Amino acid sequence: MGIIVQKFGGTSVGSVEKIHHVANRVILEKEKGNDVIVVVSAMGKTTDELVRLAGEMTSRPEKREMDMLLTTGEQMSMSLLAMALQNRGYKSTSLTGWQAGIRTEAVFSNARITEVKTNRVESLLNEGRVIVVAGFQGMDENGEITTLGRGGSDTTAVALAAAINAERCDIYTDVDGVYSTDPRYVTGARKLNGISYDEMLELANLGAGVLHPRAVEFAKNYGIKLTVRSSMEETEGTLIEEDAPMEEHLVVRGVAFDKDIVRMTVVGLENELTGFPAVFSILAENHIDVDIIIQSKLDTGKVNLSFSIKESSLDETLQILGRHKDEIGYQEIEHETNLSKVSIVGSGMVSNPGVAAQMFSVLAKHEIQVKMVSTSEIKVSVVVDSNEMIKAANAIHESFGLNRSAVEA
Ligand code: ASP
Ligand code: MG
Repeated sequence: MGIIVQKFGGTSVGSVEKIHHVANRVILEKEKGNDVIVVVSAMGKTTDELVRLAGEMTSRPEKREMDMLLTTGEQMSMSLLAMALQNRGYKSTSLTGWQAGIRTEAVFSNARITEVKTNRVESLLNEGRVIVVAGFQGMDENGEITTLGRGGSDTTAVALAAAINAERCDIYTDVDGVYSTDPRYVTGARKLNGISYDEMLELANLGAGVLHPRAVEFAKNYGIKLTVRSSMEETEGTLIEEDAPMEEHLVVRGVAFDKDIVRMTVVGLENELTGFPAVFSILAENHIDVDIIIQSKLDTGKVNLSFSIKESSLDETLQILGRHKDEIGYQEIEHETNLSKVSIVGSGMVSNPGVAAQMFSVLAKHEIQVKMVSTSEIKVSVVVDSNEMIKAANAIHESFGLNRSAVEA
């Protein structure tokens, strides 16, 4: 029998009853003869509530203190679940992220895992214990507590699974799998039985909140079999693996959308050769995620550089670019808010030209203006006005034959 890593999200551990229910799911796996490591998120909306509390103290909390605060959420759930398991007669030990050997880079609020030291987890497993690990947290080389970014418990689970050579990593959540698009906004969204790592990675990066992108990255790099399934019902869920077969006649697997995009424009770059790399290395040094990049040449010979960022990075980006104005060499910075990104993802695109064209015609038919475009082998993204995001997503989802009724027919 192997080692199974189970991860339960915030909704799944949202109340006393739900934690008891999670204990049942854990016991079921344990009774099959497996060793079980459970990773938990904070209960319900605890993390949001802690963020709100911090805001009552200061409008600009230091990131270190935020991490100290937010990591307490997961510690509540881990100890409560361990108690519930002990109450059912199972040996169980809860561990914080650092006790479980999760080491990270020295970055607060969005650290990457650098190493997992598994000796403690392994020896506890050898004693027949169920290990409950607090997700979303680790420790850096200076002994500081760090967090892995919102939604990071998924990454804790997959990193542990990879380090300990687990047979499977099951992500239990409040939906029954990965959907072709967000069912809350698109009628006809349907559950996928399978999806490839690459497609899932694109969807996760594009804002499909069901999985933390770094978790998918880990799973891909280490070939971890990952499932997303419901913590409430006994259903199959979605299997994420290297090659997930594409349903016949489909080229697109899913449609993702993401609000709160800002288009930044660095107007009048004086020196294209030095200015272009300067902008992006300065942003990278400050951990600002830049997405779509467009460069346009002006009649004057100067260059405008546009790129998209998340709205949450706007203030910081403006400050940073302002501070480095002389070094970069530009006239001014402009920005446009209230934008959204809508994307299609599917490995079928590789061998089917015309997918982007079809997307643009659908948008044109619905009179939706496209402001920026980016493509990769298996993805096309467009930036549109936020007021048109849902309309665009619905139209595209239908046009590529992804609606539930279309596929079942
Ligand atoms: N509790 C953290 C959050 O809400 C981490 C997680 O749930 O994965 O973002
Ligand atoms: Mg999550």
